[in-house]
Amino acid sequence: MLDNFEKLWRDALFEIEPNVSKANFSTWFKDTYISKYEDGVVTINVPNDFVKEWLSTKYYKFVISSLRNLNPSIRHADYLIVSRPPQTNQPEKKSYFKQQRNNEEQLGFQELNTDTEANLNPKYTFDSFVVASFNEVAHSAAAAVSKNIGNLYNPLFIYGGVGLGKTHLLQAIGNETKKNNPAVKVQYLTSEKFANDYVLSIQNKNIHIFKEKYRKYNLLIVDDIQFFSDKLKIQEEFFHVFNALYDGNNQIIFSSDKPPQYIVGLEDRLKSRFEGGMMVDISQPSLEERMAILRVKMQQRGYLISDEIIDFIAKNIKENIRELEGALNSVIGQSKIRGRVLGLVDVEEILKRKIKPVRVVTADSVIKIIANYYNMEEKKLNEKTRRQEIVKPRQIAMYLLRNDLNTSYPYIGRRLGQKDHTTAIHAYKKITHDIKNDKKLEQEINNIREMISKN
Ligand code: ADP
Ligand code: MG
Repeated sequence: MLDNFEKLWRDALFEIEPNVSKANFSTWFKDTYISKYEDGVVTINVPNDFVKEWLSTKYYKFVISSLRNLNPSIRHADYLIVSRPPQTNQPEKKSYFKQQRNNEEQLGFQELNTDTEANLNPKYTFDSFVVASFNEVAHSAAAAVSKNIGNLYNPLFIYGGVGLGKTHLLQAIGNETKKNNPAVKVQYLTSEKFANDYVLSIQNKNIHIFKEKYRKYNLLIVDDIQFFSDKLKIQEEFFHVFNALYDGNNQIIFSSDKPPQYIVGLEDRLKSRFEGGMMVDISQPSLEERMAILRVKMQQRGYLISDEIIDFIAKNIKENIRELEGALNSVIGQSKIRGRVLGLVDVEEILKRKIKPVRVVTADSVIKIIANYYNMEEKKLNEKTRRQEIVKPRQIAMYLLRNDLNTSYPYIGRRLGQKDHTTAIHAYKKITHDIKNDKKLEQEINNIREMISKN
């Protein structure tokens, strides 16, 4: 017999919570509750189809085993989508979200206290970071490193396109580390700041101070490392800093808009240092993921926006999360100014300026971007050779032309080295097959797609 659903779910969540990261827990389990139990089947109400999908696939095991521990007669869990308004004006009912809420309430206060020494902004935490499949690996690497700096993944290298959460994650590691251990010497900076510091110290003739300063950190976070490109003197100096920190078991973390091997004008010895640690990438959020991010951000701001409008924003703002946030801010701001709830027509009008007209992507531009991405001359893609560094980009080009642009095989063959259409078919099949087994390749291709879409 099962009558106290609330207690059952609360007990289950207590079991689930330690097995899931805090950010994941609040993203996926907030606003869920049990509504029914019949013939061994528990029905769990969830706020949207995105949560349903995650709970019924990724977290199914956790959910069902914790429920079964509590009541062995439970065989299966079903999910039911029930949208509910954000909880902003309602008293918090569920005690296990108390702490989360308090953290959010404190944000306003914390923002005044930006840690200027470490250069960390307290609003970038793991708690405020939404985790989904496009950033899941980067998030778990970041969370793991923040629990064990210097010993686990060193260096940690996070790459991905603009506005997708690299700085947020990097800062979250810094904040989390400081929170757990205030004595740890943390420094966050951009690669440009490092370069400027170096140049200034030369001008002021106090390079020794510079050298000492950077060698004393336990956690050094350098954002947007791609700006080291072609700055050889800076790279040399950084190489020494890196070695000194690394040899002392201190943690180093980087971000970049692309993986190290594709950063033009980056010294090989630095590349190999970067590649010697852990490399993780953040790819593009899907439509469903963009909708989920909007919902979380809307709830954080205590606003209610209709599904129709969320859907509209997510369908039209595809570039990145920064743009999504910007769109949401405009909508909320305008709603405040106009003093009323906005309809779809209002939102369309507000976002008109933000939405890019659909562009026509041509075969030429795709090929150009691929050559650029792999740092090679375009005409190399046409060369008769079996060298992998040429064959692979060419096959990717053939694949994208077919898959994304629907170009004919004979044209693809001709366009890329006067090849027969069977070569194009082979390339298409090969990459289609390889992507399924090679996560890195998939991410690489998604990075290229992102560049194409931004071109
Ligand atoms: P990047 O450094 O990759 O260009 P940022 O870290 O600056 O991107 O992210 C851009 C904006 O989007 C920031 O306001 C950040 O808080 C937000 N953002 C990015 N990813 C997430 C996420 N997964 N969850 C919540 N907010 C995010
Ligand atoms: Mg950034």
